[in-house]
Amino acid sequence: MQIPLLRLQCGVNSYDWGKVGQESTAAKYASITAGSDFSIESEKPYAELWMGTHPSLPSKDLETQRTLLDMVQDNQALISTEVSERYGGKLPFLFKVLSIRKALSIQAHPNKKLAEQLHAKDPRNYPDDNHKPEMAIAITPFEGLCGFRPLAEIVHFLNTVGPLRKLIGEQAVGEFERVVKGSEGSEDEAVIQRNKDALRSLFTTLMQSTPENVEAAAKELVTLAESSGENFATSTSSPETNPSNAAELAALVTRLNGQFPNDVGLFVFFLLNFVKFQPGEGMFLKADDIHAYISGDIIECMASSDNVVRAGFTPKFKDVNTLTDMLTYSYAPIEEQKLEPTNYPYAILNVPAYSSGSSAVLYDPPIEEFSVVKTDLRRTGAKATFDPIAGPSILICTGGKGKITVGHKTEEVQEGYVFFVGADAECIIENTGSGEDDENVFTTYKAFCDLTGKEGMVNGD
Ligand SMILES: [Zn+2]
Repeated sequence: MQIPLLRLQCGVNSYDWGKVGQESTAAKYASITAGSDFSIESEKPYAELWMGTHPSLPSKDLETQRTLLDMVQDNQALISTEVSERYGGKLPFLFKVLSIRKALSIQAHPNKKLAEQLHAKDPRNYPDDNHKPEMAIAITPFEGLCGFRPLAEIVHFLNTVGPLRKLIGEQAVGEFERVVKGSEGSEDEAVIQRNKDALRSLFTTLMQSTPENVEAAAKELVTLAESSGENFATSTSSPETNPSNAAELAALVTRLNGQFPNDVGLFVFFLLNFVKFQPGEGMFLKADDIHAYISGDIIECMASSDNVVRAGFTPKFKDVNTLTDMLTYSYAPIEEQKLEPTNYPYAILNVPAYSSGSSAVLYDPPIEEFSVVKTDLRRTGAKATFDPIAGPSILICTGGKGKITVGHKTEEVQEGYVFFVGADAECIIENTGSGEDDENVFTTYKAFCDLTGKEGMVNGD
């Protein structure tokens, strides 16, 4: 039987928000395996490297130039019969590297049922009938917006940022304040539901502002940000994970206005958690969770789908009514969406790995389609042996040098190399770099699907 280790050639998308030319990690990685027809253009933005079987940008086996989709459909065993039957002969997940220069649209991804409806109604803007829960892990310092802020924080900004209050209007703001006052932290379900309804109504009013009103308010907002940034500080009760530095937040508003002048997103900013991640920190976004990425490079993993409902910071198709309808309106500090990695017990480290503080950690969102293991091997000869998994994996190296062995096949690994590892195969990775210092770290991310024990899971909804 063929040994299930394939080096993949992956393509990169050129969306406007991507980092430009050689600055783009996604482009660098694509160029490392691309055929001779790909070279990085110095002025062009490169946004997303795609690793998987999605037909919009399918990965190929480098050696034979066949698409991975073609290969797994030809040979079900590569992804396991169970996974193949459940996901129609495709990988259940899409793995990506994103290089973000300017903010992505404020967005949410539909749940399964809504995805089916949207796709049936408007297949051009909603190309898939699948849901798209997604996970992001920073590989360079990252900024983003994620979920609604705690209510006390929203009330605080409605009172300190004049142009925000003015744009939404005294009536809608007053109504919101009246409902949530004194119950911002309540854990009573009926009260939480009432508060979510109030938030929905506040957010919907904001999103329905006329372009003229948004433009006038944005001008006032930027003037305020440039003159007296102290209004932008979060309240003293703000959760520690939300950056509270007034000057930083004011500068960010000015930066975002430079990217998307007079955009309603500048105001949505005050309703959402602003987060900063260091490499290795990540978050999971359920279906219908609002978010926007602002800057940095990330590893992203999602159910294999390309459905996005957008409402701001974008020149693309916006569907404000669908977005305001679909959102969960959960309001909570970012800690609740952050995904803390845990020790991964199915990779055995050898002595050099163990003694050098090497690690294999698991990011495991509550869905069946994917999990991700990050491995840092911190010394030459440090090795991790992964138990076979009853499903497919895709591995990418983001730093250092090493090798990967599956069965009798061993391949060299460098930053940007991507491999497919078939189901039920043991996989060994080893640091072959030189030096003893912090520079010699062989880092890989491995996305995989293993349905064992996940029978009762409700697809992330
Ligand atoms: Zn998204």
